[in-house]
Amino acid sequence: MDNNATELLVPLKIAHGLHARPAAMLANAAKAHKGAVTISCNGKTVNAKSVVALMGLGTHFGDNLAIHIEGDGAEATGDTLMDLVLSGLGDPIADAPAPEAELPEKKEDKPAESKPQGDALPAFAPGADAVVTGRSAVGGFAAGPVTRRVSATADLKKDGDGAETERARLASARAAVIARLTNSADGSPLNPVAAAHRDIVDDPALIEAAEAGIAAGRSAEWAWNEACREQAEALATMADARMAERAADMRDIAGQVIAELSGKGATPGLAALPAGSIVLADEILPSEMLGLSAGHIAAILMRDGGPTSHAAILAAGLGIPTIVAIGSDADRIPDGAPVIIDAKAGSLTVYPDDAAFAEALSKVAAQAEKRETLRAAAKRDCYLADGARIEVFANLGHSGEGTLAVSEGAEGCGLLRTEFLFLDRATAPSEEEQLAEYQTIADELGGKPLIIRLFDAGGDKPMPYLPLPAEDNPFLGLRGIRVGLAKPELLHAQIRAILRVKPYGVARIMVPMVASVSEVEAVRALVEEESRKLGREAPIEVGAMIETPAAAVTAAQLARVCDFFSIGTNDLTQYTLAMDRGNPAVAKDVDALHPGVLGLIRMTAEGAASDRRTVAVCGGAASDPVAAPILVGLGVTELSVAPAMIPEIKGLLETLTLEQCRALAEKALKADSAAQVRTLDKGSATA
Ligand code: PEP
Ligand code: MG
Repeated sequence: MDNNATELLVPLKIAHGLHARPAAMLANAAKAHKGAVTISCNGKTVNAKSVVALMGLGTHFGDNLAIHIEGDGAEATGDTLMDLVLSGLGDPIADAPAPEAELPEKKEDKPAESKPQGDALPAFAPGADAVVTGRSAVGGFAAGPVTRRVSATADLKKDGDGAETERARLASARAAVIARLTNSADGSPLNPVAAAHRDIVDDPALIEAAEAGIAAGRSAEWAWNEACREQAEALATMADARMAERAADMRDIAGQVIAELSGKGATPGLAALPAGSIVLADEILPSEMLGLSAGHIAAILMRDGGPTSHAAILAAGLGIPTIVAIGSDADRIPDGAPVIIDAKAGSLTVYPDDAAFAEALSKVAAQAEKRETLRAAAKRDCYLADGARIEVFANLGHSGEGTLAVSEGAEGCGLLRTEFLFLDRATAPSEEEQLAEYQTIADELGGKPLIIRLFDAGGDKPMPYLPLPAEDNPFLGLRGIRVGLAKPELLHAQIRAILRVKPYGVARIMVPMVASVSEVEAVRALVEEESRKLGREAPIEVGAMIETPAAAVTAAQLARVCDFFSIGTNDLTQYTLAMDRGNPAVAKDVDALHPGVLGLIRMTAEGAASDRRTVAVCGGAASDPVAAPILVGLGVTELSVAPAMIPEIKGLLETLTLEQCRALAEKALKADSAAQVRTLDKGSATA
């Protein structure tokens, strides 16, 4: 090996191996190096600058990556890549491989006795009343006729018009798709997916494979399709469901570039279908969901696909009931066939009897009417039935969501999870980059308050550009503001970016994972220092998240140094019950309605009252219709909830009085368990 080359062997300690996000992070870091970077594993050696090739390595937890770097700065790049891999590349460091992944069933896999094979069987017909099952991806109820979406597998011209022409056609089609993906900040929460797709369209291994096809005389569309198809097939056979589901992304990318090459431009997405459509397709691709608003599509049914596919994640964000992996029975559902969908159970009835269908349609109509009434009413500020003011804000994690939240009735943003804005980055976002994101969201909110949480790194949120030492108990180690204060460069840049958001007064600073008064004082000192340097005289509010029992118990002391509190019930619950919020073994008991957690919320409200600080809840309990009235009864005056839940939460609170909520809270505090709290009747509160 010469002086300008280095070789390292680094163990991979992430449960799912190099799936799309860590692969993108690693490839981006490798791209920053001018010379060649290759990674060998499982008998294959690939270009480390290619996300697609890295995913294709089929790595698993515990694999050793042999990284080979050539050219100037090889050693420094080696250090960077090693730190990145050792810090988990954006995934949590695991102790063991992910449990055996359950792949979505495909028609070929289904045992004959449990389900008839579709190909040989005729289409369902009126009178069938057939129950078809798949896997639930997003729960919900829907009924209506099915709209079949036929995937446009265009007849591709095989032979090209000369390598030079075809190469140029491919380059300009790719550039057009990249431009479209870059400009897709259109109010839908698709941006992280669009960013991942942009990386794939620009992937050196895919381009190389397509250009080899072109050199062999193929047309640009044929060569690109083949390159994507090969990768999709390789991914689809992987044992890890997350990887297998990325095959859909490859097919999506193939289709987008081919549509561009054919001169048709982007295929119209689901947003172009009539409102209320129930869409049935082999697979819905993420790009088809671009520009979709909540409530436009009534349900999505997929023959293939998995519950963690990008399309399913996007559907969840928009609250669209979705069933995936229906298998060959999906082929038997004719276009226009009436169906009743129970997406939570993962089942649908095709050609139900007339009475059942009529009943389901009226249930859907009633649901839609209720939702529309609630949405219309949610435009107003929220008051309880007796006139007490409760603010209902939205939790946001991406630009674009601000517009969606306002259209659902958000009165502001009570929690911007800033670490979500820069998830796919290998390097820390600069002050300017942060300001651009924060300002975009502030603009989307149109002057409504924007509570920006300082980076909440550590625990379940590793940040690759802030490598933290491996810890036995990451949830009890360097987390939240402890990280910020230990590594202050990023904190300085973030505070400066927040201080620069215009107009002054809109943005507020929220400190995560506070355990002591001194942490808030330290942040305040930094805020004052940076305000001075920026020449900003306008004050800015600084509040604490109440997520540790210590913060709840010492709320009165904290109230003296904070402008507001926001209770993070997700963490407060895990720390109070000593139950890991991400551990499936205890998942059913991790409930914020445990009277022990409610007691700490009461203490927080009492502590805040001494200095008249507002108390909000921005954890998951705020979005829970059973919990919301209890929180209000405990003294909470602001709820920050998932955007899609705003109309329901506002609608519910407007029917209750403060006295009812307080009576309910008293009963909840005296209950034996969260389960018992869940059985309390709001109506009985006055009894
Ligand atoms: C919480 O802990 O309740 C919270 C809102 O923060 P996060 O879920 O981002 O940890
Ligand atoms: Mg938290």
